[in-house]
Amino acid sequence: YTSWLKVKVIVVLRDDSILPFSAFLTDNFGRRHNYLRISLTEKCNFRCQYCMPEEGVKLTPRGQLLSTSEVLTLARLFVQEGVDKIRLTGGEPLIRPDVLHIITQLRKLEGLKTIAVTTNGMNLARLLPNLKEAGLDLINISLDSLVPAKFEFIVRRKGFHKVMEGIEKAIELGYSPVKINCVVMRGLNEDELLDFAALTEKKPLEVRFIEYMPFDGNKWNFKKMVSYQEMLDRIRQKWPDLEMLQAGQTDTAKTFKVPGFKGQLGFITSMSDHFCGSCNRLRITADGNLKVCLFGNSEVSLRDVLRSGASDEELLQIIGAAVGRKKKQHAGMFSISQMKNRPMILIVGLRNAQARSPNVLTSHVPRTPGAPVFCTLLIDAKINQRNHPVRFCHSQNSSKDASCKESESNQTTDLKAQLTHTDAQGRAAMVDVGGKLPTCRTAIACATVSLGPTAFRLLRDNQLAKGDALTVAQLAGIMASKQTSTLIPLCHPLPLDHTSVTFHLDELLNAVIITATCRTTGRTGVEMEALTAASVTALTVYDMCKAVSHDIIITDIKLVSKTGGKKDFHRHSKQEE
Ligand code: SAM
Ligand code: SF4
Repeated sequence: YTSWLKVKVIVVLRDDSILPFSAFLTDNFGRRHNYLRISLTEKCNFRCQYCMPEEGVKLTPRGQLLSTSEVLTLARLFVQEGVDKIRLTGGEPLIRPDVLHIITQLRKLEGLKTIAVTTNGMNLARLLPNLKEAGLDLINISLDSLVPAKFEFIVRRKGFHKVMEGIEKAIELGYSPVKINCVVMRGLNEDELLDFAALTEKKPLEVRFIEYMPFDGNKWNFKKMVSYQEMLDRIRQKWPDLEMLQAGQTDTAKTFKVPGFKGQLGFITSMSDHFCGSCNRLRITADGNLKVCLFGNSEVSLRDVLRSGASDEELLQIIGAAVGRKKKQHAGMFSISQMKNRPMILIVGLRNAQARSPNVLTSHVPRTPGAPVFCTLLIDAKINQRNHPVRFCHSQNSSKDASCKESESNQTTDLKAQLTHTDAQGRAAMVDVGGKLPTCRTAIACATVSLGPTAFRLLRDNQLAKGDALTVAQLAGIMASKQTSTLIPLCHPLPLDHTSVTFHLDELLNAVIITATCRTTGRTGVEMEALTAASVTALTVYDMCKAVSHDIIITDIKLVSKTGGKKDFHRHSKQEE
């Protein structure tokens, strides 16, 4: 908490010319995220070779995708916090039937300066007049070949002439520049670099050459990628006086112009020269997950939070926690190519990358049958306490708040009064909670697994022979939380509204720190569920790593906090500060 505060102070002092920006959208490196990309759909009418497999991707069931009003609610919230540019992408955003309505509504958001769309151009000529009328400011159109047969080979569909028509329509309607996204692949379209560049002579286009990036299912390899430097060299051979243009602080493209040409060229160098340092982008997937980095596989479901009836403040806490965990930059090209990520079509748009975030793994939590909605709360007090949804006593020296005082006094009350699971004769008895009122109760527990350097490295890099230890352990913990009453004899069976398990990888200690959070709406609390989840997660990490080393120690299984019952508890220790 204290170090977070320090970061904030430094940002303000360094940049006092700029108005304060939302703390929720500012990460620990001072990057302000004022650009949001929203994927409107996972569907597409093309099957570009570099983006998705021929058979398409497994689509998320409709009910799990963001509805129109959910898209607009999230957009409003982000704009309220300082986002001033929204790009709609996909899949193919222009096949979503309500795209016009969405743009019309976005236009009404005060503070939103720019609405952009990235499209494959197939439906553009037909829709553009209305889209423009609705308030669309910028258009990026994907086009990977100027040779119709090759175009159709790359996108595995017909449509070259329609796309060209769309580009012409955009120029005709005054978009300037119209940006053309061209993914350059060796042996496929690299021979067209000069033809694409020549297009900018007479037309107000910005042709952006994109380094081919790896995503699940696109069979990426180094040899297929043509680097920025190589592309530039080839174009310079034909136009030696190519001029580099000044870039804006958060521009992703390195832009150039041939003197006298109407348009310009851009290079998106996500692979050979990342631009993470100035990254100002956030992404929302069509199923409502917030991704703070294109390549990070850490996601948080804003859809679930929304559907659980959370307030704006609660949503912001969760968004802030995710932004707070954003890494400084992605790993090198090799690591990115090795990591697991969604296929491009299931993410949003195109931008720089961050390697698989080793520190936090979050995922959807299976819903307990019969329980209402759950929300995927991301809780990692150690990493980001500013966004912690439960209250902690911040400092040992500070005057403690009421709940902390209460928890301390609870600990010193008569021991006899605390032994609720025994009857007058001292025999085991299950407490009758029938007379209590149901309330919303949350408990957080944690555990530490010290692995040693070799097992830690293998787990961190997802190289363990048994498979993805963190994902397996996470599921084990979630499932265990649901089994608590069958494992602990006097525990009540509870309907869990929500369980989450997150990880912090401590590189210094070679340890995995597990945080389990459980929530119920019931008559008794979920501390045993949270402790069970943390313990079983820890045991599963052990099991996944024991082939590498038996020198694994599980320690510090403890309750961190418990709220919503008669007596709240917040652990007050140096570690949690
Ligand atoms: N369907 C729309 C389109 O094609 O423009 C929007 C979505 S598409 C995923 C967004 C952008 O990502 C496109 O410009 C596409 O060229 C780019 N893209 C997709 N896969 C890529 C990859 N493997 N490497 C580089 N760029 C990629
Ligand atoms: Fe569809 Fe765009 Fe992906 Fe091509 S790049 S398959 S058009 S989403």
